[in-house]
Amino acid sequence: MQSDLFDRDHELFRESVRGFVDKHVVPHLEKWDADRLIDRETWLAAGRQGLLGLPVPEAYGGPGELDYRFRFVIQQEIARVGASALQSGFSTNDDIVLNYLLRHANEEQRQRWLPGFVTGETIGAIAMSEPAAGSDLRAIQTTAVADGDTWVINGSKTFITSGILADLVIVFAKTDSAAGSRGFSLFVVEDGTPGFSRGRKLDKLGLHAQDTAELFFEDVRIPKENLLGEVGSGFAYLMQSLPLERLGIGIAAQVSAEAVLGWTLDYVKERTAFGKRVGEFQGLGFTLAELQTAVEVSRAYIDRCVREHNAGTLTAVDAAKAKLWATELQGRVIDAGVQFHGGYGYMMEYPVAKAYIDARIQRIYGGTNEIMKEIIHRDLMKA
Ligand SMILES: Cc1cc2nc3c(=O)[nH]c(=O)nc-3n(C[C@H](O)[C@H](O)[C@H](O)COP(=O)(O)OP(=O)(O)OC[C@H]3O[C@@H](n4cnc5c(N)ncnc54)[C@H](O)[C@@H]3O)c2cc1C
Repeated sequence: MQSDLFDRDHELFRESVRGFVDKHVVPHLEKWDADRLIDRETWLAAGRQGLLGLPVPEAYGGPGELDYRFRFVIQQEIARVGASALQSGFSTNDDIVLNYLLRHANEEQRQRWLPGFVTGETIGAIAMSEPAAGSDLRAIQTTAVADGDTWVINGSKTFITSGILADLVIVFAKTDSAAGSRGFSLFVVEDGTPGFSRGRKLDKLGLHAQDTAELFFEDVRIPKENLLGEVGSGFAYLMQSLPLERLGIGIAAQVSAEAVLGWTLDYVKERTAFGKRVGEFQGLGFTLAELQTAVEVSRAYIDRCVREHNAGTLTAVDAAKAKLWATELQGRVIDAGVQFHGGYGYMMEYPVAKAYIDARIQRIYGGTNEIMKEIIHRDLMKA
């Protein structure tokens, strides 16, 4: 793929990531799918290899690496072997939960929570969505009420990535129903807090190894010290952090599209029908040519967004475009990939089949693609 995004340091880092993936990911993919869970040892191994918590400052045990291209390399190497569930778990930790902590945690909280994100001992989750509110987050029902030195949380969340394993959950809750967008706050609920429980592992179309779950909060009393940032700023914090979440999803989509197109090209160069390689039929060839072009053009946009993120200039609108465009393209590439593998494309032993079921969520979570269009549309109509 044409890209000048990386330099020598990233390529050296890639060797280390590839070593981790070949040793600690590939041999376990089937078991993780069967268990509907990725074991903690994988997180700890990733921590030992220096793949987690890259932006955590040295003072809290991390490398303080703010160059997002290193995360990009991790995403690429995971996509190369089709480990989408691991991709989404790592991304939730590093692109989302950690991002909130780095932006809003105070000194005491940083000391308490950041080191575990580097070692892999802490798995984090972000709990915004509820049974009756996903796109429309202002409609959530979970409440947090101040009571002396504590906050008391009541409500339930659903579809929460890493919900079963999470040691630390950032909960988006309503703190003042009369304050509009200023009526929401973020709280950290830790594993073992009385009243905090988890439902079943949700049975999903794809991403089988991802422990997506429902979470329940019944009079969960947490100390005042577990409020993240300021009371009433929760909604604003979401708006600030969602661009990185969306860029992360856009990159995951891009690198998955690149990987699947590669597998598909390998296949159509080998498989024969009517005395020739199936890739020589023009019907397949024109589609492959279109997809290759789209993937390369898309990569240029994604690379630009990564550079802008590094420079601190990536806008929410451009992040929405990256998520919208790359996930739609991923869907097109994988659909063609399944088709061009013929019957084998429908067999789960072929990575393209697993990619097919795993990729469908990409257009739904992190804000649906309709919501991405809304964000872009609003920007177009600005006075
Ligand atoms: C596997 C998985 C993992 C997830 N992980 C997490 C997580 O870790 N944390 C978390 O908080 N959430 C998570 N989610 C939830 C996810 O972000 C939501 O499902 C998503 O935002 C959509 O919300 P919803 O399901 O309530 O759909 P709804 O909001 O009910 O939407 C239904 C349909 O209406 C459309 N729609 C809604 N509003 C508009 C509008 N204004 N304009 C046009 N169309 C609109 C939507 O695009 C969609 O097509 C996850 C979901 C899944 C399936």
